[in-house]
Amino acid sequence: MVKESLVVGKSKKPLIAMKFGGTSVGNAERMKNVAAIIADTAQRAEVVVVVSAMGGVTDMLIRAASEASHGDRENWKNVRRELAHRHREVADQLLKAAEQAAVLPRLADAVADFENLCSGFSLVREVTPRAMDTLSSLGEVMSANLMAAILRSQGTPAEAVDATELIVTDDHFGNATPIFDETNIKMRQRLAGLRKRGAIPVITGFRGATRAGACTTLGRGGSDYSGTIVGAALDADQVWIWTDVDGVLTTDPRMVPEARILPEISYREAIELSFFGAKVLHPKTIQPVMKKKIPVWIKNSFNPSCPGTCIVPSATNSQKGIKAITSVSKADLITITGKESLSFPHLAVKAFGALSLDDIPTLMVTQSSADNVLCFALHDADLRRVKAQLEKTFELEMLHDDRVSIEVMPHVAIVVMIGENMKGTPGLSGRAFGALGARGINIIAIAQGSSELSISFAVKASDVKEAVKGIHEEFKLGASDSVKGKV
Ligand code: ADP
Ligand code: ASP
Ligand code: MG
Repeated sequence: MVKESLVVGKSKKPLIAMKFGGTSVGNAERMKNVAAIIADTAQRAEVVVVVSAMGGVTDMLIRAASEASHGDRENWKNVRRELAHRHREVADQLLKAAEQAAVLPRLADAVADFENLCSGFSLVREVTPRAMDTLSSLGEVMSANLMAAILRSQGTPAEAVDATELIVTDDHFGNATPIFDETNIKMRQRLAGLRKRGAIPVITGFRGATRAGACTTLGRGGSDYSGTIVGAALDADQVWIWTDVDGVLTTDPRMVPEARILPEISYREAIELSFFGAKVLHPKTIQPVMKKKIPVWIKNSFNPSCPGTCIVPSATNSQKGIKAITSVSKADLITITGKESLSFPHLAVKAFGALSLDDIPTLMVTQSSADNVLCFALHDADLRRVKAQLEKTFELEMLHDDRVSIEVMPHVAIVVMIGENMKGTPGLSGRAFGALGARGINIIAIAQGSSELSISFAVKASDVKEAVKGIHEEFKLGASDSVKGKV
């Protein structure tokens, strides 16, 4: 296992990129705690920091923008007050007068941007994805400025840096992809002076900018991704993602409170977990560090003495069977049935062609070639777009003697068992089937990739919690089971 030790016989201090999530910077007390973690680590390592917006702020900004675009002229004014108040309160409590004088105008600028944008949205009754990105990431601008000022107030040199100056992305507003070569160069150049002076860069998570300088965002929860983009660009020795749980757990602790911490998981396991809904990591988090094999630690800012989970290129742990369970609780199943005259490959090519137009991910896919039936699950949020694309794609077949039918089963959940070492362990699906059957849970569909990294079940959305609990119990993954030994 990778040791977290920061003094591994190096003459030079190791470089740690650390990201703090919304709850970790949720109020003055939490921010003070984060400043202490940063200052403490900075004694042993060079630190570069990425921060999310204060908890709840991004949701609040997006809601306000959407209301304004529907013509509401009042609600966003309340949000404006709350935005100003929450950040001002932290400044009042934690900043010395000189730092207040430096940072309050920056906070006021962000609030003014919010006001101007919302006022514009309410006037034109529209919010474009591009304008939404500028607005929805203002929380990060405010928290990064505050955090840098808090550090300075406590005697630790630090400077807020807007990621629009560092991370170059494409123009897919709302879910932009970094252009890594350009980002790496820009990041190193922009941060060189600060690092030389020994000042800690405190970078806004979530946002980047196109080559032309338009602000973009990396998708909801994207500050994790910012953390590894920064870590990879600077060749960091480790990336530490600070959140509000002790690490990656065997399942979502909100569903199963007995969930147990996993000391180590592989990149592939982490990617699979986050793709299938484990909120603790943004799905693209691991991508930037893969080539350089940088370890990523998940740590609890509420419990910093707990070592957390280390995400490593390939797990050394030989635990057999299932490691973790995750779920997507808002999904739909789409079943496309073709008449005999339409071959299955033709049906599948057209269906997936339709999905590829908007690059929409599927959660599971099953087929019945004999009946010419293709079935796949997708995120409920994508349903409307997918249905429209499919209806357009199969328009002719549906018009002419019903050669194709498309059915949607809504309110479905996908439960996924994950573990690299499931391979070659027989009987896992059978046991999961049994556990679900014993609880009266009907399995609507099942899929297992040949890599055997994951096995997925579709169940009714109302059964998801019981299904996750049932499988977690069956494989004795919980804290109270750990003494009994795992499968
Ligand atoms: P942050 O604000 O720090 O980015 P998030 O709320 O995005 O934090 O992610 C942390 C949350 O992810 C936890 O509080 C937990 O409820 C949820 N979560 C879901 N699945 C898992 C899992 N397998 N392990 C740990 N946390 C999980
Ligand atoms: N603040 C952003 C969000 O809520 C990014 C993040 O927290 O990671 O989506
Ligand atoms: Mg998050």
